[in-house]
Amino acid sequence: MNKHRFYVFAIIIGVICAAYFIYTGQKANCPVASTNGQVSCLFPNPELTAYNMGLYLDINTRTLYGSTVIDTVNSCGQTLEELYFTAYPNAFRNKAKTPAPADAYYCGFNEGWLRIDSLEVNGKSVEYQEEGVLIRALLPVTLLPDKSIKVEMTWKAKIPKLAYRYGSKAGVYMLGNFYPTLNVLSNGEWHNSYNSAYGDPFCFHVANYTVNINLPEAYDMVSTGTIISQLAEDNGRTIYWVKADKARDFCLLITYDYQELSQEVKGRDIKCYTPSNNVDISSRIVEQSGQILDYYCNTLGSYPYSDFKVAFVPMKGFHGMEYSGLIFLREEFLNPGYYDEQKRIFTLAHEIAHQWCYAMVGNDQLREPWLDEGLANWLAYKYMHKYMGYSLPDINYQQGVNLSKQLQDMRSNREYYRIAYEGGEAFWFGLEQELGEEMVIKVLRSYLADYKFKIASTRDLLAIIEKEAHKDMDYYFDKWF
Ligand SMILES: [Zn+2]
Repeated sequence: MNKHRFYVFAIIIGVICAAYFIYTGQKANCPVASTNGQVSCLFPNPELTAYNMGLYLDINTRTLYGSTVIDTVNSCGQTLEELYFTAYPNAFRNKAKTPAPADAYYCGFNEGWLRIDSLEVNGKSVEYQEEGVLIRALLPVTLLPDKSIKVEMTWKAKIPKLAYRYGSKAGVYMLGNFYPTLNVLSNGEWHNSYNSAYGDPFCFHVANYTVNINLPEAYDMVSTGTIISQLAEDNGRTIYWVKADKARDFCLLITYDYQELSQEVKGRDIKCYTPSNNVDISSRIVEQSGQILDYYCNTLGSYPYSDFKVAFVPMKGFHGMEYSGLIFLREEFLNPGYYDEQKRIFTLAHEIAHQWCYAMVGNDQLREPWLDEGLANWLAYKYMHKYMGYSLPDINYQQGVNLSKQLQDMRSNREYYRIAYEGGEAFWFGLEQELGEEMVIKVLRSYLADYKFKIASTRDLLAIIEKEAHKDMDYYFDKWF
């Protein structure tokens, strides 16, 4: 080989090698083949994203001071010139736009908000714009595919006097979705949140969380994840270190004069938190939670977290609210005669079902709210029917419901419930009539296994149904979408 030919040959080999490494490098972080054959990118990638947060609660001003470091990778398969975050506390800034019902403001309207004090990406200060709950960060330097991203921010959140999933009442601070959260980018499209008077306006990927929480010592805390250690400071405050892996969100509840009942039921650590004059009910809740978890584990597959917690909180507007490994139930359930026992157990079974459909397998709750709500209701009915003799709903009543309606196209809370809950559960009961219970369980096991710790869409689910049923199901799907 002469010298000239050698150089040409070396260049060709070099180009082939570079192309191969670029291709395999992208493959490591980006494409995930879904059941419908589409290739999609996960950003922020659940395997590569960590939140490290420091929190300090000032009780006197009801202000939570936060610092957040998000370590992730540009796994979206393209360059990034902006990042979007959700700051849910900003939904409570204006009286006219708050999602909380009027009776939740127990002493008149009281504002809540989140303010970013500093924001840096990869060590460079970043400009940002706010619109409702949305924060758009305009990056000074384009982020290249597969490169590390470090977001550092300091912020403070005002906690309103509000009996809601974000708010405080009687020394109890209910802090759902309280921190800036990096939104999902999928196939070049951001899944951004907006303020909605009903439903859960969220779509997030799971991440690993390390959180330290600094509280006055008279208060206790309950959160997603596990307390790793705690330190009593000389200044009358306590610091807790918490770790939570593969959490769809990190929820924090700060309590005053609460009682914990912790018990192992069938090998699972279950905890119930009630105001301390309501201890009687805790053991029944723990026992029922254990039975419900056991039923779902045996039907769907294993529970995704190391423990499960139920907390009764002063919350209006919802019977229950789901977070990763932790649920809130409204405290009225503790009053004898306020609700019947079956309503309480149904709500418990519905919220526990969300640990599989929402926490483990996520969905865009704005675009496809029926996907988790319908399934959680169907699973709760299955449990109630098998264990409590509960009668099943009449699915003929739901004919004509269009499950593809997005949250923003629904005109009332009633319409939201009729579509996402009643229409969603009817889809599953109808599917059971078409395919039989055994086949529907097979579909669910396959759905939960394929999309474990990812986000699934209606399209993904329908593809799995057709794959398991071995037939074209358009005749059935056309009734619902
Ligand atoms: Zn629900």
